[in-house]
Amino acid sequence: MDLSLVIPVYNEEKNLPHLFEAIYTVLPPMNKVWEVILVNDGSRDRSLDVLREYAVKDPEHVRVVAFRRNFGQTAAIAAGIDYASGETIVLLDADLQNDPADIPMLLAKLDEGYDLVSGWRKDRKDNAITRNLPSHAANWLISQVTGVHLHDYGCTLKAYRRDALAGFRLYGEMHRFIPVFAHSVGARIAELPVQHHPRKFGKANYGLERTVKVLLDLFTVKFLLSYSNKPIYLFGGAGMALIFGSGLLMLYLFVRRFIDGVAVLGSPLFQLGVMFAIMGFQSILMGLIAELLARTYHESQSKPTYTVRETINLSARPNSR
Ligand code: UDP
Ligand code: MG
Repeated sequence: MDLSLVIPVYNEEKNLPHLFEAIYTVLPPMNKVWEVILVNDGSRDRSLDVLREYAVKDPEHVRVVAFRRNFGQTAAIAAGIDYASGETIVLLDADLQNDPADIPMLLAKLDEGYDLVSGWRKDRKDNAITRNLPSHAANWLISQVTGVHLHDYGCTLKAYRRDALAGFRLYGEMHRFIPVFAHSVGARIAELPVQHHPRKFGKANYGLERTVKVLLDLFTVKFLLSYSNKPIYLFGGAGMALIFGSGLLMLYLFVRRFIDGVAVLGSPLFQLGVMFAIMGFQSILMGLIAELLARTYHESQSKPTYTVRETINLSARPNSR
């Protein structure tokens, strides 16, 4: 299988026929072995019936995963990737805001030797205040924090080489962080402007509240990327800084007691110093617990702490696994 399209579907009955039309215009001329995996994310409308019809008509290409209830776009995408068998995986939205006509261009870029080609909705057709503005801010922040520089993490339309998606799982709203995780396992990433259209049918499922979730996810992602192998560096670092601060405060109080004769207990600095010391020790202890968790995390799943692109004169898997 050359190509799998993965499409999350939630209440898109009116969009689906147009989506299939676009897919059937774009894919067959490409002369690839392809499939489209549609994940029905517990739609409350007739989406699943529509999908069933297309699947019956074209069992060779149309595959459907139906969730028991709504699990969210990220879960739908994760499931689609799990079921996909293509060497290349392209994600897109079901609402035709992404244009399947852009797929050949993304694949061509992928063939230049990239593992991931990310779509960039340069001329985005969503509400400027509630969607585009927070999205710009979020993109800038993600780019700064993660060091993976893209203009548009939230654009679903992206093309992936299969191995760029192995080695991590998606939680929360994290599908937008796939490029960041992929980068962390060594993927080569490119970005291309893609078309974007206003939603014709149905309504967008998200508003401003998503920005908050994305921010919180960013904390997790940064932590996972920078410290999941060595959490004690973060917790221990903070702990040492607090204890050091506490030491300085205590020293200052001590010196002041003997030079100016000011009572140590006469100012709130003493309480602050004690608090810093306690928090510092707590933080170091938390770091130790996190170290235990990190080991459980990697070893329970035989998840190595590295990723291998290729081996020469060696089997692909190490002998001890
Ligand atoms: N979607 C989903 N589960 C959800 C919400 C959305 O599978 O709980 C799908 C939806 O059908 C669409 C895509 O995710 O294909 C993007 O959703 P939407 O258009 O609402 O988001 P936006 O384009 O506004 O970011
Ligand atoms: Mg949309």
